[in-house]
Amino acid sequence: MRLILLGAPGAGKGTLAKELSGALGVVHISTGDIFREEVAAGSELGKKAKGFMDRGELVPDDVVIGMVRQRLARPDCAAGFILDGFPRTVPQAEALDATLQEMNAPIDSVLDIVVPEETVVRRLSGRRICRTCGAIYHVDNKPPKQPGVCDVDGGELYQRDDDKEEAIRRRLKVYAEATAPLTAYYQQKGLLKSIEGVGSPAEVLATALKALGK
Ligand code: AMP
Repeated sequence: MRLILLGAPGAGKGTLAKELSGALGVVHISTGDIFREEVAAGSELGKKAKGFMDRGELVPDDVVIGMVRQRLARPDCAAGFILDGFPRTVPQAEALDATLQEMNAPIDSVLDIVVPEETVVRRLSGRRICRTCGAIYHVDNKPPKQPGVCDVDGGELYQRDDDKEEAIRRRLKVYAEATAPLTAYYQQKGLLKSIEGVGSPAEVLATALKALGK
């Protein structure tokens, strides 16, 4: 199964992608996670991406497209993949189509996760992440036992720079302008399925599997 997840920042793409990756037995590719790893490693790619990410802007298309092409060429993608956070612009979607055509591996489905805007802002501004293990918390919905400390390994919890209010507003604007047109792009190709992203992770997973006919 080759799948794309669409949805505004905070719609729950990352959580659903992890669940679906387990349920379907295919790799989860998050361009945001790859960039964050590159930033943490201090690589050239990370240095190019960091400023855009911190401001809540998109990294330029050519940088992202090159990175995704390399990732899709790895052997673990042969059985399928879930793309989370890519494509985010029409040129990225066109480049992906061309790459997958060369690989003779077309997309099977595109799931659009729909969540009301006020829910998205609440989710993002309260999100906290463990610096060591990456576990995700929420100050209201899933607080750690001790504020600022990870329940799993005692690591420090931090807030992503792009989860601060000004960057959230910019990310939602960028989403509406650059990424939302992709729903029409994939609708025209007959690949788009919209699901509601409200409820527990298990509920959203069940909705997604049903929409995919699994
Ligand atoms: P995410 O974790 O998916 O919200 O991504 C975090 C940040 O990484 C975004 O706000 C962008 O700055 C950058 N990024 C991730 N994926 C892409 C993409 N497909 N195109 C451009 N920038 C991206």
